[in-house]
Amino acid sequence: MARARVLLLNPALGPLDYRVDREHAVEPGSIVLAPLGPRQLAGVVWEPERMPSDAEVGDNRLRPLLGVYDLPPLGAPLRRLIEWTSDYYLSPPAAVLRMALSSASALDASRTVTEYRLTGRVPDRMTPMRTQALERIGERQGLVRELATIADVSDAVIRGLVKAGAIEAVEVSVEDPYPRPDPAFARPTLSAEQAQVAGTLAGAVSARGFQTFLLDGVTGSGKTEVYFEAVARALDEGGQTLVLLPEIALTEPFLRRFEGRFGHQPVAWHSGLRQSQRRRAWRAIASGEAKVTVGARSALFLPYRDLRLIVVDEAHETSFKQEDGVTYHARDVAVMRGNFEGCPVILASATPAIETRHQVAIGRYRELKLPDRFGGATLPDIAAIDLTAHPPSRQHWIAPPLVRAMEETIARGEQALLFLNRRGYAPLTLCRTCGHRFQCPNCTAWMVEHRLIRRLQCHHCGHVMPPPAECPECHEADSLVACGPGVERIADEVAELFPDARTALVTSDTMWSPAKAAEFVGRMEAREIDIVIGTQLITKGYHFPELTLVGVIDADLGLAGGDLRAAERTFQQIMQVAGRAGRGEKPGHVMIQTHGPSHPVIKALVAGDAAAFYAAETEARRDANAPPFGRYAAIIISAEDQRQAAETATLIGRTAPRIEGMAVYGPAPAPMAMLRGRHRQRLLVHAVRALDVQSAIREWLGGLEWPRSVRVSVDVDPYSF
Ligand code: ADP
Ligand code: ZN
Repeated sequence: MARARVLLLNPALGPLDYRVDREHAVEPGSIVLAPLGPRQLAGVVWEPERMPSDAEVGDNRLRPLLGVYDLPPLGAPLRRLIEWTSDYYLSPPAAVLRMALSSASALDASRTVTEYRLTGRVPDRMTPMRTQALERIGERQGLVRELATIADVSDAVIRGLVKAGAIEAVEVSVEDPYPRPDPAFARPTLSAEQAQVAGTLAGAVSARGFQTFLLDGVTGSGKTEVYFEAVARALDEGGQTLVLLPEIALTEPFLRRFEGRFGHQPVAWHSGLRQSQRRRAWRAIASGEAKVTVGARSALFLPYRDLRLIVVDEAHETSFKQEDGVTYHARDVAVMRGNFEGCPVILASATPAIETRHQVAIGRYRELKLPDRFGGATLPDIAAIDLTAHPPSRQHWIAPPLVRAMEETIARGEQALLFLNRRGYAPLTLCRTCGHRFQCPNCTAWMVEHRLIRRLQCHHCGHVMPPPAECPECHEADSLVACGPGVERIADEVAELFPDARTALVTSDTMWSPAKAAEFVGRMEAREIDIVIGTQLITKGYHFPELTLVGVIDADLGLAGGDLRAAERTFQQIMQVAGRAGRGEKPGHVMIQTHGPSHPVIKALVAGDAAAFYAAETEARRDANAPPFGRYAAIIISAEDQRQAAETATLIGRTAPRIEGMAVYGPAPAPMAMLRGRHRQRLLVHAVRALDVQSAIREWLGGLEWPRSVRVSVDVDPYSF
């Protein structure tokens, strides 16, 4: 009798065995439907020897599989990746599998999706909600749920509009083919330097073996143009490419640039897709028809049929680290996927992570350098402004030397950018009379004032409250003060200092859609903007030739606190934002405001000495046995009940194994001691690199039990300390 081991799409379950009746043909990777109690659940057939089952069931007690989906089976490289991710990051394999099947929407067999759109008819009876819905939906279409989200109204409002004839149903095919990008569409003439690097990368694609490259080129050196040649080679040879970007906001500019080079857009994959787009993309990726996919980290687990190249752009970005659910690092998983697929992986960055440089140093990755900006553009000069010597006036944050440089820049008709990595108007609101501070009720975090939307908001759980008229403690009116600046406050200061300048505020609150991003780029290119004020959203990817001045409002912001990566991250972020200056023919200038001009990071930035910074930082890591030399894993214990969390943490701490080369610290309150209403305790495991930390933790936690209301999760190679 035929039996099959099936990994079901339920993270709480291990693999289960089923009977395969004659009408079903299955192989490892087949996507099947199986009974579970009274329910039916999708799953994937696995090789039994690779997926041990804890419940061996005799042949006569096996339940039969209910069906096999008419979809291509998941390939062996993806199955190996799922196993590896599950082992390395200590997550249930089914939780990883779920990412591959993308919340099961891929499993819907129908060839169309019913979407809704405006008919142009205005209903007889209007309400404020209906007006809002009609305005916000505009040209867009989607499921009822999706339109309700876009319009910020309830599903019932949308359904009411359908009944009233203002919205109609349309059938959207999920099988329409994607146009094929043309590798020869607009091939640029590469510089000699670029051509050599591009030749090596394209050669690696043709050679069809696993190899990891660090494409290390200064900002504006033409890294994108260069890796596009490797993409072109994969296209020439009929294979698929995956390009990973660190955030959705970069997708839109990337799509446009790709289209300029290849004549058609690649397939996009990110959390902002509509269900119909998601299903169409998944199918085309699985069939091999989607030749180039650009996406956020979740695109790593899609079932590419014939992957020949993986590119991780801005590979140093910390947003590649997934912090919720399966906590994985997309850069590292990308390298593993390349390993299993047997294809090259390109990590592109102007400011590579210490970990990545280390892999080059030990000979695991091959470094390819582009040391100069393309087309004779020079790197900007960087100067520090000592805020102690040049203090801004009271309740202001832009120091006089930066104000002067901005004046000169706009007078020349060029553009300036002010960078502050803080959303909102002020990070903290305080009562002058009693000292009360507004804290989030669910998190260890201050409520951030947002004047644009007239709310205080928690940046961790999204909790909002209207701006208070009086202090809730002492009931004093007019006693509340905003402390410190966010970008909105800097924008106010700019408006006060430069009343005639045309400005743009770029944060996730103002630039929340691809259309908004495109509009901003258009205005910059048309030179309708003199001064941009932005968060980290503005630090990457953009190429504005007339932007010649960058001011960093608070270079010390990221250096505060004892974070392992504080120095590295600050260096990278300032190098990246500095990289926006002087990309055209005119030279760029960068001014960084700091209270500590003699801090090693600031000194390295001013001296333009990246090598010295990396060498010093690497030595510091070696001394501390920190990554990439030693390794960490964090065990996070959380519960709504503070005592339960503490008790479980104590239990886990008390049973910590004694292993040579491994130390366990804590339990102690986690860096966010309360998050989304849950109390969090943490144990930190620190070990030498050679130690198999995962096995140690698996054995340790595997023997313990805790109340169901307590959640224990492990973050391997954690980023938040
Ligand atoms: P990076 O990704 O290294 O920051 P880009 O690839 O964005 O650099 O290149 C910087 C600018 O130079 C872009 O406007 C790009 O189109 C242009 N560029 C780079 N290489 C070439 C080339 N060979 N021919 C024409 N333009 C190029
Ligand atoms: Zn909160």
